[in-house]
Amino acid sequence: MALRVGVIGGGQLARMMVPAAVELGIDVRVLAEGPGMSAAIAATAEGDYHDVDTVLAFAADVDVVTFDHEHVPQDVLRALVEAGVAVRPGPTALAVAQDKTTMRTRLTELGLPVPEWAAVRDADALRSFIDDHGGRAVVKTARGGYDGKGVRVVSDPADVADWFAAVADADGAQALLVEELVPFTRELAQSVARRPSGEVVAWPLVETVQRDGVCAEVFAPAPDSVGRIADLAEEIAVRIATELEVTGVLAVELFQTADERILVNELAMRPHNTGHWTIDGATTSQFEQHLRAVLDLPLGSTGMHASAAVMMNVLGGPADGDLAGRYPAALGAFPEAKYHFYGKAPRPGRKIGHVTVVGEDLDDVTFRARAAAAHFDD
Ligand code: ADP
Repeated sequence: MALRVGVIGGGQLARMMVPAAVELGIDVRVLAEGPGMSAAIAATAEGDYHDVDTVLAFAADVDVVTFDHEHVPQDVLRALVEAGVAVRPGPTALAVAQDKTTMRTRLTELGLPVPEWAAVRDADALRSFIDDHGGRAVVKTARGGYDGKGVRVVSDPADVADWFAAVADADGAQALLVEELVPFTRELAQSVARRPSGEVVAWPLVETVQRDGVCAEVFAPAPDSVGRIADLAEEIAVRIATELEVTGVLAVELFQTADERILVNELAMRPHNTGHWTIDGATTSQFEQHLRAVLDLPLGSTGMHASAAVMMNVLGGPADGDLAGRYPAALGAFPEAKYHFYGKAPRPGRKIGHVTVVGEDLDDVTFRARAAAAHFDD
């Protein structure tokens, strides 16, 4: 009988696990938030992942439960574990990715390099952090942020008065996270995968470019990173995966500074946008690897097919909504490009797909990937 993986969340990350599962003969079942989700190409149940009974019923039919996002509440995760379900990554690891203050606390305890930070509960505490850090800082909501929502650069506590009011109203009165505004020279991401038995593998370090807090471009391997920076990034990510006992893919978002330091920004315990290039550019994609890892199967090679891979997100898409209308020109102009769309309707700023080009010359590959993706802009 085929191995069965249950994925909670019906977004594009669950969707992109499906082709890898098909090739390996693995059965993927999805618990989607509602109808018409990206991942509904697989066998899909619809239900609320906050509801213990819904999630237990979904889990009864699969060998292992994994995730498209990190939002499944801890009480639901714990109920699954108590019922004997294999949950990967497990609740203790996921808790670190679910809450940015918990994440900063754990990384600091592990002695890993992070921006200077504090948990602040009121305007006075925030004011004194801002004053101590050159008059500007980055404030983040601890939970629920994504794609830059929940991140603000501030110079005055009044800039986040609404967030203080919201957390004061919340049960358990959470704090806001404040960090130094890191003068980074570029952003990097290091993905690794770990299986329960402890094997860990790493893909090449990548450089990422964000626009308005959203990942826009990814370059693999990160230019000018051989040696110290790449080794350091891999060491950091392997250490985090091992110490936190992450199972599945772990993506570590990093800042590189002018003085050649590397600081950890964010963790994601699932396939990640900065790893989409692996579908076309690496022997084992992050989606296949995630399935292997959560099933505790031997991990695949992470080597690249060529010297460079560049991925461009398609953000928004055509204003007239006619995505397919752009296919003939785009596919015709760049037959070497690999186009991936997520079954999502175009909408300003929305991640609806990505394009990857793989080749030997980074400048050439970058030009082709950008031009191919631009066919879907307006
Ligand atoms: P999200 O969870 O929404 O992805 P992140 O914490 O990754 O939020 O932040 C989004 C982006 O904001 C980062 O990719 C980076 O460009 C910028 N950013 C976040 N934290 C800092 C910081 N401490 N200093 C400078 N820029 C930051």
